[in-house]
Amino acid sequence: MPLISPLLWQGLPFKHADGEMDFLGMHDHWHAALGKAAGGIPEFRLDNLKDMGEIHQRLHDELTQTLGIEPSPDFSLFDLNQSQGWTLFMQLHSIEHERLRAATGL
Ligand SMILES: [Zn+2]
Repeated sequence: MPLISPLLWQGLPFKHADGEMDFLGMHDHWHAALGKAAGGIPEFRLDNLKDMGEIHQRLHDELTQTLGIEPSPDFSLFDLNQSQGWTLFMQLHSIEHERLRAATGL
């Protein structure tokens, strides 16, 4: 599966079930690729971010530590069940994934 630009996630609307499924699959794929590129990061299937905020955050923290770059924002603080939390998460998190993409050369 080719990796699409994480910046496309920025515009994902709140409560769009199909869009969310696509995002979750692609985001999981991205984390697997980033973990492999950084090296030494265990794979963890991320199929539901609403209940896996802390695990997702730990993966981001491990990535930035392994890559030796500034830490990610704490994405576990965003309430993805609220429209505003969702929108802010999608904006910040996609920019962060683009930064990780650049840092790994993917
Ligand atoms: Zn992520």
